[in-house]
Amino acid sequence: MLLVPAKLDQRRLLARGAFAPLAGSLARDLERLAHSDDIYIPTTKARLTRAGGRCPACGSMLDFDPFSPSRHRCSRCQMEVVGEEHDLMWIMWYQLWLAERAVHAAALYGVAGDETHRSLAERILSRYAEQYLSYPNRDNVLGPTRVFFSTYLESIWTLQLAYALDVLERAGPRTTLGSTVRDRLLAPSAALIAQYDEGLSNRQVWNNAALLAAARLLDDSGTADQAVRGPSGLLTHLQRGLLADGTWYEGENYHLFAHRGLWYGVTLAAQAGFDIPETLHSRYERAFETPFLTALPDFTFPSRRDSQYRVSLRQWRIAESCELGLADSQSPILAAALGELYREDIPRGETGRAVSTAEAERNVPASSLTRADLGWKSLLFAAPSIPSVVDTHATAQSVLLPEQGFAVLRRDAGRTFVALDYGESGGGHGHPDRLNLWLVVGNARILEDVGTGSYVDPSLYWYRSSLAHNAPFAGGHSQLRADGLLLGYEERGDFGWTLARAALAPNVEAERAIVVADGYLVDELLWTGALDTIIDLPYHVVASAASVPLTDAPIAGGRGLEDGFDAISASACSEPATEAIINGEVLGIGVSISLHADLPFVLWRLRGPGPPNEPQRDFFLVRSAGATGRLRAVVSWTNIVSEVRASEEMISVALRDGARHEHARREDEWHVNLVAPGGKAKAITLTPALGPLKSQRPVYTPPSLMTLMPAIDVPRIARVDGEAGELPTPQKSLIQLGVAHYRRSEQSWDEAGRPRATVAMAATATDLYMDISVEKRPVAFAAARTLNPLDNEHPDINSDGVQLYLAGNDAEGHQRSFSWILVPEAPAPNVRVTARESNNGASVPTLRASWRATARGYALRIVAPLATFAADGSFLGDVIINEMPPPPERERRRGQLVLSGGRGEWVYLRGDRQDASRFLRFVIAHA
Ligand SMILES: [Zn+2]
Ligand SMILES: [Zn+2]
Repeated sequence: MLLVPAKLDQRRLLARGAFAPLAGSLARDLERLAHSDDIYIPTTKARLTRAGGRCPACGSMLDFDPFSPSRHRCSRCQMEVVGEEHDLMWIMWYQLWLAERAVHAAALYGVAGDETHRSLAERILSRYAEQYLSYPNRDNVLGPTRVFFSTYLESIWTLQLAYALDVLERAGPRTTLGSTVRDRLLAPSAALIAQYDEGLSNRQVWNNAALLAAARLLDDSGTADQAVRGPSGLLTHLQRGLLADGTWYEGENYHLFAHRGLWYGVTLAAQAGFDIPETLHSRYERAFETPFLTALPDFTFPSRRDSQYRVSLRQWRIAESCELGLADSQSPILAAALGELYREDIPRGETGRAVSTAEAERNVPASSLTRADLGWKSLLFAAPSIPSVVDTHATAQSVLLPEQGFAVLRRDAGRTFVALDYGESGGGHGHPDRLNLWLVVGNARILEDVGTGSYVDPSLYWYRSSLAHNAPFAGGHSQLRADGLLLGYEERGDFGWTLARAALAPNVEAERAIVVADGYLVDELLWTGALDTIIDLPYHVVASAASVPLTDAPIAGGRGLEDGFDAISASACSEPATEAIINGEVLGIGVSISLHADLPFVLWRLRGPGPPNEPQRDFFLVRSAGATGRLRAVVSWTNIVSEVRASEEMISVALRDGARHEHARREDEWHVNLVAPGGKAKAITLTPALGPLKSQRPVYTPPSLMTLMPAIDVPRIARVDGEAGELPTPQKSLIQLGVAHYRRSEQSWDEAGRPRATVAMAATATDLYMDISVEKRPVAFAAARTLNPLDNEHPDINSDGVQLYLAGNDAEGHQRSFSWILVPEAPAPNVRVTARESNNGASVPTLRASWRATARGYALRIVAPLATFAADGSFLGDVIINEMPPPPERERRRGQLVLSGGRGEWVYLRGDRQDASRFLRFVIAHA
């Protein structure tokens, strides 16, 4: 069902010809496993923790050795690491690895007919069919799954096993194994995956592929149709996840990951007879090429957004992607990319294929590659021969990806890479780094983006701050999350430029122009905001020194989790100035940044985290303030520039050969006056070149807290006199929470024992009283913990307890917004109250809280001072009641009752965050 039968005959011939070296090398990878009597199948499911799978000394990912379940190695520290948390993480890699071994073995058997391989694939499938239903679908991090902790991992695993079964059934006799695998693995796994719809996420690409493959083998046309044509199906992903320029909206890392999944989807859909519109198909084909269009000079991909840092494209998986793209096209870009990947003068390293973990990649250092390094997909699908490279520079051109919003200007035959990252904000994996400037010369990463380290480590907050980027931000706070807008892009060869705009904060906009010449660039930042808007522009150029004296001083900055300033460990600043020069050297490339500002600025040298798992390092930050302002810089990386002078009208760059370039922006054009040593002048104009683009995307307007409409009717809160005893009449101020308010995890509301609650509110002249009565047995109140070993969330979310959100005007008329987590403690009536968030740095009001046990659960009373959030008699708020069974059944909460409604949502990854747009509006009755 997944493969065309005729194709297998053709592939058998190829496996004896062009692909004989590949078949031979894949067979060698399998030797140890194929000859072991017993295949190890873990009996516990994989578990994600903060520490698991990472070296305790250096934080790097531990090596994966499929034959070593309990002794792990850090190849960076040359150290052996043991511990249960590592063993349980190892299981994740192992299960994926073993599933991929099944499909490798099946594919080899399909094309070469070796019984050893058939037996290996069958043994893996049959052991998994035996074991699958005994893994508990419980206590997951991101979606239902038995084998793993996230649904998409199970999807990748199931997909491999489905292909393995299909190839076996194509190539050999159909046995009872097929029906066992269908009944005990594919059908229940697909049912579980189908429950959890991840919308436009890259993960849903894998869910769709697994569902489609399983549905084909199970003859389930309804599920197949949903996986292709449903609202979160393949066609929607080709239309909206993949942008019209052929890039996946979540950045390079997720582009590669999602596009590998789209290959399965498109291939399976075509085989099943679904029609893919031509525009979407050509977009999918373009997506094979785009990773090479933005590759850095060292052939790594830019680590934008949540990408891993410095990942080489010289990996067998990437070569396989080129091969699969070339199987259906004659792309000169893919031919050039493959020519680059198959170059013989690159040192040979460990390709990692023998320990590869299916489609959940573990990146390895660059290695030279040949067609014998490819995987099973190439064995079954790659073209017999590859086209010769016609244009070796096809991948080293300047390029604008207008939908992604990434403008690349290259010089020096591709050795110099300048880019402005201005556009698509990137969804949940995006960073607040619109207008981020890149400059890479050969191997020297002068200005870049270092991506993200671990998702379950606090360093995540640094990497997701504007401060960690070469991007402007306002008021000391990370940029708001919004798409930027392109205003101009023109590449003339001698000069090229790009101009873009982004909103940095609710009332602050900035425009950044980057003009690239031979050996230097001009960087101009304009901003408009309210009076005294503080603008920060970091330049993360390492090992540099400033032309002005710096004195140690603490820097003020936003204290938000993702503002980044909490990660600064040293700081020094200059006196206010309007000019300064930063000089540095990166891998032998001398860099100079000549700064010129219309308003005075202070130059800061800060020390902050380096790239993931690397030491801290110094960088510079330019801080200025004003309602509007202009900051200009000339960045040079060759010795070509002798002096830079700035005036109101222009910035003048004197070159060592006696020539002079006078740069000025006028409206949406950039003018360069080239003055030769003899005084002869020539004018050049860089234009927007793109036509009007200004209304392309909506301008972001932040919601005002007080104008949000209520989602449901809330009873008016009654006034009571003095200290309330029992709160007044249920009809007037009691809200009952049940199935409609439940956010589930693996278990439905019924399966979770039908947790219910009532919330009653009343107000005295000074305080809001809330009585929350929870019907849920047995209760499980977590003890106080300072650290959550599982992830970055507050440990008290994994307990029975309450998250409270209150927002409104305080007595001075300021808008306030607060949240708390409350967990009952023994002995009653003690309640552990943790203040979590407040806006504008306001101190969080103190709550009074008490609890008591009830026959059906527990009751909590909370008293909050009205003057801090409801001074005008109304407020916005929400109450979320976490629930979990006592350990050891779970270590993560099971579900939540949400006052503003459950909306059929899932509880995964929500931490203690609740979007303000969900808050309900409460009005206190007049006395
Ligand atoms: Zn280490
Ligand atoms: Zn970033």
